[in-house]
Amino acid sequence: MSLKENPLNVLIVGAGLGGLAAAIATRQSGHNVTICEQASALGEVGAGIQIPPNSARILQRFGVLDEIRKLSVLPHAFVIRSYKGQELNRQPMLPYCEETYGAPYLHIHRADFHAVLVKRATELGVKIQLNAHVNAIDFEAPSVTLATGETLTADLVIAADGLKSKCRELYLGHADPPHNTGDLAYRILVKASDMRKDPDLAKLTEFPVINYWLGPQSHAVCYLLKGGELYNIVLICPDNLPEGMAQQNADLEELKALFANWDVRLQKLLGLIQQTFKWKLQNSEEMDSWVHPTGKFALLGDACHATLPYLAQGAAQAVEDGGVLGGLLSHVTAADRNNLRPALDAYERLRKARTTAVVKGSTALQNIFHMLDGPTQQERDRILVEDKPTEGF
Ligand code: FAD
Repeated sequence: MSLKENPLNVLIVGAGLGGLAAAIATRQSGHNVTICEQASALGEVGAGIQIPPNSARILQRFGVLDEIRKLSVLPHAFVIRSYKGQELNRQPMLPYCEETYGAPYLHIHRADFHAVLVKRATELGVKIQLNAHVNAIDFEAPSVTLATGETLTADLVIAADGLKSKCRELYLGHADPPHNTGDLAYRILVKASDMRKDPDLAKLTEFPVINYWLGPQSHAVCYLLKGGELYNIVLICPDNLPEGMAQQNADLEELKALFANWDVRLQKLLGLIQQTFKWKLQNSEEMDSWVHPTGKFALLGDACHATLPYLAQGAAQAVEDGGVLGGLLSHVTAADRNNLRPALDAYERLRKARTTAVVKGSTALQNIFHMLDGPTQQERDRILVEDKPTEGF
């Protein structure tokens, strides 16, 4: 019997960016997809997100890139500055990314990105069940049991339930809480119209650029969002949240003190903030495998390779996971219903080394970005200055 007549029933845990990517790709491969999402409403927390070309290319295959592009700001360049404001490096991004990688680099509000993926998944016929918190898995059946007691059976269960993955714990058979990285993030949005009232800040709103400032133990990343109406600010600092507390309302005076001797533009930006939160940045240990020996369960996204966000690749890797896994499932025939292990093993072989490199690369950037003033930092800055293109840009 053909796959079309007898598709697999695939159950995905989590309707985050990774779960939705997997749902779209799996549905495009002709299978039935249900997502169990614990939240009572669909959405994304946080502010802006960077979509690098490796992710954008997959979004094109999903048929959503044009819509995402309409909702995005495309940066022309990225600029790296010292925390005192000296420009160290500037690299082109537009049209460089499209010419070099075949897809653009985009900045979008997370809620917009998520909404586009939900819309596409729904159009394709993906069922999304809300208030569906998975708290048990039978890896043999396979099936998941919800907090309500309801049990859902499928041919394949894909866990995309994020950093604090319950599915990962059930798969490992023991608690596996994420570990602290030593850093936290403030995520802030300010109105570009407020920035335009100040000549120093107005310049930051005139031209879409990713601005980095690198300083001792901290860094800042800022870019325009929403047609240039909003300015997204991510500030990374040493983690001083109490153990076990993932998020807290920020003390604005404490925040201003942390950046008191930084570039005056950053200090002025902080003066525009009314309220913000700070989030502990956490990783998980690398897993030996993402695939259950039954061949009926696999993990993806933050559930199996959470990363520091310093390469802006966490969601991008989750989208890649979803695209690859869904794509591989297009080669599975109905006869393989009880033999999905080769496809899942291929998924892991194609993906795991890459995501490990991303996690390690992001962790390495923590030291490179946050150097204390001194000879090593001066050498870093010298290299950045020498690498700066001088012509044609
Ligand atoms: P999540 O987004 O965590 O989604 C998991 C989903 O599963 C949620 O909807 C949750 O409600 C649901 N769920 C959880 N448990 C259960 C359960 N038991 N049953 C049912 N549902 C459940 N990445 C980029 O690519 N670019 C960036 O610019 C970028 N910037 C970042 C900046 C910061 C400050 C941070 C912290 C991260 C950043 N990232 C970025 C990383 C990115 O946000 C994550 O990697 C990405 O959102 C992970 O997606 P996910 O779908 O794997 O997990």
